[in-house]
Order: sequence, then C-alpha cells, then structure tokens
Amino acid sequence: MPPPRVVVRRSPIHGRGLFANRDIATGADVIEFGGALVPWSRVRLHRERSGETAAHTFLFDVGDGLVIDGGRNGNSARWINHSCEPNCEAVLDGHRVLIVAARNIAAGEELFLDYQLELDHEPDAEEAALYACACGAPSCRSTMLHI
Ligand SMILES: [Zn+2]
Repeated sequence: MPPPRVVVRRSPIHGRGLFANRDIATGADVIEFGGALVPWSRVRLHRERSGETAAHTFLFDVGDGLVIDGGRNGNSARWINHSCEPNCEAVLDGHRVLIVAARNIAAGEELFLDYQLELDHEPDAEEAALYACACGAPSCRSTMLHI
C-alpha cells in the first residue's frame, strides 16, 4: 500500500495543520472533506445554544442549504488551514467536497485552502478579528472572509 498522502502536524500558521506526506501532482485528489451533512438551520441552532463562533472553519457549504460539518464524523481535512494563496482547491461533487491539488505540492508542504467564508451579515469588529488572516502571502487580503 502506498503511504498516506497527508499527515496532521502542528502548523507554524495556526494550531494543527494538514501536510503533504508525499509529492502530489496538480489536479490530483488530496482528500475528501469528511463530516456530517446537515442543514445550515441546524448548525445555527447548535451554535446559538453552545455559544460557539469559531467553528465556522470546520464547515463547508455545499449548496441547497446544506453544510458538511467537519467537526462531526470528520476526517483530517478539517485541519487544512486558510491561505490567500492556497496550494489546494475544493471541488464540489454533488454534496461531496473533494480537496484537489491546485499546483504541484512537494512532500512536507503544508496544505492550504482559500476559505472564502461567506457570512449572512456584515461582520462586527469582534467577528472581523476572529477571521483575520496572517498567512503571509504577498497577496494576503487580511481576512478569511470572501470580499
Ligand atoms: Zn492571507
């Protein structure tokens, strides 16, 4: 069996991160974003009850009012950090999300996605700070939000 493509390690950017365990070619599948497929309405309800706000980054909008919650039955894809110049991209396949290599990735590189998070309201200062980006890319737009 070939070694796994990815491995979770401590990230220099933020908490844990997902890293390439071997070379990955442009366009190759990296990992499927695993998790429970649930309606947004249920996620909001849960969040209001628990007071959670930072869980956004484990959520993947797949359209039709549905979201994949990587915090429930998820896999290591939920550890992929945000970058404004990512080396991976998310491809929707129905209600599944496949993470594929946006360029050639060398073994040992941390894997990144551009989260392009969409809020249903204008973020206040506290929220804006929560989604601040410090990825260090030359084109960093300073936020993980879609602008
Ligand atoms: Zn950035």
